[in-house]
Amino acid sequence: MTESFQYAGATVEIVEPGTILAAARVNPVELLRRAAFPAPVRRVALTVSSAETTGGPVHVFAAEISTVADDVPERDRIRAVVLGNDPVGALLAKRIAAGDPIATRIVDGVGTAAVAAYKKLGLDRPNDPVAPRESRTDVLADAAAGLQATVSYEADDTLVKLRAEVPRDEVTPAHLEAMVRLILQSVTTLLPSSEEPALAGRRYVVARETIPKVATTTQQVTLDQVGGLAEIVAELRQIAVSFRHPEAMARWGARRPQGILMYGPPGTGKTMLSRALANEIGADFREIRTPEILDKWLGGSERNIKQIFRDARRYRVPTLILFDEFDSIISYAGAGGDAASQAINAVAGIFKQEMNDLIEANPNVIVVATTNFPHRVDDSLIRSGRFDVKVSVPKPDDVSRTEIFRKMIAQLAAVHEKDGFTMFTDGLDLAELGRLSHGMTGADIKEVLRRVQLTKAMQDAHTGGMVEPISQHDLVASINALRP
Ligand code: ADP
Repeated sequence: MTESFQYAGATVEIVEPGTILAAARVNPVELLRRAAFPAPVRRVALTVSSAETTGGPVHVFAAEISTVADDVPERDRIRAVVLGNDPVGALLAKRIAAGDPIATRIVDGVGTAAVAAYKKLGLDRPNDPVAPRESRTDVLADAAAGLQATVSYEADDTLVKLRAEVPRDEVTPAHLEAMVRLILQSVTTLLPSSEEPALAGRRYVVARETIPKVATTTQQVTLDQVGGLAEIVAELRQIAVSFRHPEAMARWGARRPQGILMYGPPGTGKTMLSRALANEIGADFREIRTPEILDKWLGGSERNIKQIFRDARRYRVPTLILFDEFDSIISYAGAGGDAASQAINAVAGIFKQEMNDLIEANPNVIVVATTNFPHRVDDSLIRSGRFDVKVSVPKPDDVSRTEIFRKMIAQLAAVHEKDGFTMFTDGLDLAELGRLSHGMTGADIKEVLRRVQLTKAMQDAHTGGMVEPISQHDLVASINALRP
């Protein structure tokens, strides 16, 4: 549903205001970032978020309007005042421009002394370009929606901030609309007056930025790109829903999963699934590799892991923390009595303790740990509820490998095929590729493709573009070459 209204000649559309408000309960929603306004307004940003106050939970509407700053830095303005217009001033100015350090020091010294003197004498110079304007505050209200925003003018009026709060139980799309109106009202007061309505002919769309379905870089991995593993993907989608709807969880006294343990052979997509889950939740992704934790110095590893959790308690935005290849720590590896085992046991103990506290302390965080050795994993971690979801990620079967080929090829084509460039021939027999790649993982299949891409690119470089698209034969040959 889209609400639309007119303001100062502009058409404003608010896309799914209800969804924006709901989403803001969980994550701050950033709006209007890309909208263009007439000079001198340079940037407008509206953030809708949720906060706890003594009066209960509220929705916070916070906006910033920045205008083009006076480009002349303070120092240069002081110099201009000191130098004035006489010939000596002009000479000094020339010297400063030429980089003469002595002239510069004299003038800056005089400037500082003059400012101090004016201050001491309590002289008020209304046109003094040196003295910053006091920041002031104001109140703007939209009577129809009953929304009141405080407006503060900061940094010499180059930054105008608006802020309004509405109790969570009372907030409606009308409040969001009113906030947008107040922002536009503030914007128009900053614009030079003219005959026409200040924003005539402009169109502003207030919408949540969505994550594109087909990611164009490997950094933005989505669950859609995962081949096979349908049940796991479905489970992760459920976890993402539970993460995004804490209010529903709270209403039913339900607890969302807090820790996920993924185990399976290397290259089966555990890291990929974690990244994709973070993306699905809309969370930041932090990957922590075991070698970063383990420190050969006494007590170093303990310090490292404590630091990681200390940081994690402070994450203000939803964050997925991945402990990659974590078997060496969450496993029984340290059953022996030697120093190395003891150190690992100490780290494991801290990890368990911190895991307990973390989720209580910071509901923004979800933890995933991956391991290639499930049988080594310390049962107490799972039993105690620290990792309440345990996911086995197996090697893909024929059908799954076929799907992995299909998705990877589609992805490559989507990213690279343009301007008449064809990357793959039509009519590839994906089922055959799936069959022939028996025993391979997703990572192996990626390598199969990477090698073919490299071969083609090298041919291209040598021949100046006279290369056939990647064929079934090329792919089969690459599979056979990679098979041990
Ligand atoms: P793991 O963490 O299990 O060792 P990764 O997630 O690092 O495996 O897998 C390496 C790469 O292999 C991934 O980035 C992805 O490109 C590819 N891959 C692995 N499994 C799959 C899959 N099921 N579907 C699509 N791609 C996969």
